Amino acid sequence: MINNTYPESIEESGNYLRMTLQNISKHKLAYNPNSYLLWYEYATGRNEQLIKDVELVLKEKQTLTNDIIIDLIRNHLADRQIVLAEKKIKEFQNILVEMITHIGNSGDEINAQGNALETCAIELSQAKSLDAITGITKRIVLETKSMFDSGKTLKNRLDSTISEVKVLSKELEWIKQAAKTDMLTGLLNRRGFEAAISETIENIKKVPEPLSIIMLDIDHFKKVNDTYGHLIGDSVLKMLGKLLKDSIKGKDIVARFGGEEIILALPATSLEGAYILAEQIRSSLSKMKLRIKDTGKPIGNITISLGIALYKSNESIEAVIKRADDAMYRAKKNGRNRTVTELDLDTINQEKNCMI
Ligand code: GH3
Ligand code: MG
Ligand code: MG
Repeated sequence: MINNTYPESIEESGNYLRMTLQNISKHKLAYNPNSYLLWYEYATGRNEQLIKDVELVLKEKQTLTNDIIIDLIRNHLADRQIVLAEKKIKEFQNILVEMITHIGNSGDEINAQGNALETCAIELSQAKSLDAITGITKRIVLETKSMFDSGKTLKNRLDSTISEVKVLSKELEWIKQAAKTDMLTGLLNRRGFEAAISETIENIKKVPEPLSIIMLDIDHFKKVNDTYGHLIGDSVLKMLGKLLKDSIKGKDIVARFGGEEIILALPATSLEGAYILAEQIRSSLSKMKLRIKDTGKPIGNITISLGIALYKSNESIEAVIKRADDAMYRAKKNGRNRTVTELDLDTINQEKNCMI
């Protein structure tokens, strides 16, 4: 779909392009369309959230990988794509409305042609000479042909417009879905999580039920990348994504929250229930014997640390995520490859209080 997404002048766009190329070179990236798209958008300065996120990534990870770039594009440019696709569908709807109006008019045209044919028939029955009959017959042939043609043209136009609308609707659906999905793991991304959890919270407001949040993070993942390379690191993330997808059911939500941090939201699940699931996942991952597909070489055990918190009615989702995150960091501090709940945090805090 080509749209006028970039209204800037040649001069402005030239400046943006220079900045784009400088940034691609500075960050040692491939000169591919993803890099162009990200840095061009960055250069225009119009997408504040994208700029903030790029700067955050650079601050935290220092290197921008192709996957991170794709995620950034998806998270920040997909919105515009959705708006454009929706606009296009609106345009087609207008065309359809016009065509339907046209059908009404054509109906009139066809009626007029029908009337003309009736007149011909009357004249034919009253015709006295062969010349008159021949003349009327010619008119009948012409009227019939034009009646047939206008019906056929209309049908063709209608068919092609309808199929274009169908293609566009599918495209829009795809863009909307892709905007919510993390490309590497196939899990929801942060945006997808936010949409799904808001729906869950709305449901809880109507029909109260417990909601548990699990935050998990791969242990010493940097070491996995450093030892086996980033691609193997990516495969580990994919494998973990699959394990998590296979471990949840029904209305449970699982999303890639950050680099190697994953969040699960479990409706109708108590803290105890969430703990059982967390331990099942942790234990089955730690027992997996992972091997590199191409070489068959084993890689050391991959473990995760998990933190769990229970949503309190009327609190913000950020508040419960923070408690799950604190619990997860406590699990790291306590030696990793373990699950900690917010109740354990309370005990630790109380102990601290006694000591003061
Ligand atoms: P800890 O046990 O404390 O969590 O140690 P860690 O090394 O896992 O912790 P840290 O958060 O410092 O490092 C996270 C690493 O995850 C750094 C980053 O390169 C890696 N990472 C994040 N996203 C991806 C990704 O998409 N693919 C790969 N291969 N690595 C990623
Ligand atoms: Mg980690
Ligand atoms: Mg981490």
